[in-house]
Amino acid sequence: MRIVDIRESTVPIEADMSNAFINFSKMTVSVLAIVTDEVRDGKPVVGYGFNSNGRYAQGGLLRERLVPRVLKAAPDSLIGEHGDLDPERIWRTAMRDEKPCGHGDRAVAMGVVDMAARDLAAKLADLPLHRLLSERARDPRTPEAPKEQVWVYAAGGYYYPGRGVEALQAEMLSYVELGYRTVKMKIGGAPLAEVRRRIEAVLEVLPDGCDLAVDANGRFELDEALAYADALSAYPLRWYEEAGDPLDHEALRLLAERYDGPLATGENLLSFAEARNLIRYGGLRPDRDILQLDPALSYGLTEFRRTVAMLFNSGWNPDRCVPHGGHQFNLSIAAAYHLRGCESYPGILTPFGGFADECPIEDGHVRLPDAPGIGLERKAPLSRPPPRRRPRACGAPTAAPRRAGPGRRRLAAPPRAAGSGRRWRRRGR
Ligand SMILES: [Mg+2]
Repeated sequence: MRIVDIRESTVPIEADMSNAFINFSKMTVSVLAIVTDEVRDGKPVVGYGFNSNGRYAQGGLLRERLVPRVLKAAPDSLIGEHGDLDPERIWRTAMRDEKPCGHGDRAVAMGVVDMAARDLAAKLADLPLHRLLSERARDPRTPEAPKEQVWVYAAGGYYYPGRGVEALQAEMLSYVELGYRTVKMKIGGAPLAEVRRRIEAVLEVLPDGCDLAVDANGRFELDEALAYADALSAYPLRWYEEAGDPLDHEALRLLAERYDGPLATGENLLSFAEARNLIRYGGLRPDRDILQLDPALSYGLTEFRRTVAMLFNSGWNPDRCVPHGGHQFNLSIAAAYHLRGCESYPGILTPFGGFADECPIEDGHVRLPDAPGIGLERKAPLSRPPPRRRPRACGAPTAAPRRAGPGRRRLAAPPRAAGSGRRWRRRGR
C-alpha cells in the first residue's frame, strides 16, 4: 500500500458577512486529497481534508514543503503497526525540518494534511473516524466507547449589509427549527447600545429551553472587554466568547476575575504550546469556562492529542472543550474524546463545513455517521458530479485516476423560519 498522489486546490467560500474583526468576502480554504493504490469497490481509496473555517487557504505551504516531503518518503516508512498508512507517521514526515514555534499558517496547512490522513486511515480500516480513534488513538483517561451523539450549537448572527434586528431574530429562530437549542451571535461590530438591542431582541424570541452565546472575535482592548462584561452580566448568556486578543492572557485573567458567567476562547490558538499557555496563564476556570481549540486549524489531531493529555494533567477535563469550526472532523474528535460538543454553522461556510447529510440535528445533538471515514465528500453539495475545477497536482507522477476538487460555490443565505417568542429574564449579579 502506498500514496500515489496528493492533490490540493484552493476553493473560495466567500460570503458578504462580517464579524467584529474580519469580512468573509475573500475567504478561501485549501482542500487536499491523498490518493492511494488501494482499491475498494473498483475505486482508489482517497482521504480528504480541508482547513476548517476562518483562515485562508495554504496552497503555497502545502505545495512547497509539506506535501513533497510525504510524496518523497519511502512508502514503507509511512506504514504503521496496523499495516496501513499511519497518520502520525505522515504527520512526522510532513513536519520534518520544521523548527518549533512560528505557529500560524503552517499549523493550518498541517491540519489539512492531518485531516486527510485521518480520513484515509478510517477508510482503510473501514470504520467511521470516531470509532477508529476510540480503538487506536484514545487517551487512556477517556471512556473506551465513543459518543454516538454530540451536542452542537448554531453559530451565526454575523453582520450583513442592510440586515436589521428582525432578520437576526428570524435567523436565530431558524436554527431552533433545525433542531439546535443553543445559538450564538456576533457582538463588537456595533456600539454597545446597539449590541444590547440585538441581544435583547434575540432573547425575546428564543423559546424556553434555548439559550444564547455571544462572540466578540477578539475585538476588544481590556477596558472595553470589561465594560462589555458588566453589560453582559445582565443577560442569561451561555457564554461570552473571545473578548480580547487571543494571546493576551493577562487581560483574560482580569476578565475572568470580573465576569462570573462562562467565558470561551481558544479558536485562534494554533498549537499545543499555545493551548498550554492559555491554561497556565489565562485565569480560566475549569468548572465553567469553555475551550474552543480547533484541531483542524492547529496541526490536526496528532497535535491535539498532546493537548488532551495536557488538559488532564492540568486538572481540566476535556469535557470543557467545544471545538471551533463546525465540521465533520472536529465532530468525530469530540465524539472519540468525549468533548462537551462542537460548533456548527448552519447554511454558511459551505460546502465543506457542516455535518453529514445522514445525520440530522435532534434536540441540540447530532448523530455520528456509520460510513467509513470522516464524510466530507458525502455532503450533498460535494457528491454531485461533475466538478468544475481541477485541483493542482503537488508533485509525484501517478497512475491513479484524476480526481477533481469541488467547484466554486456561493454561500447560501441562512435558512429562515418563524418561531414562538418569550421574554428574557435579567440575571442578577
Ligand atoms: Mg468565535
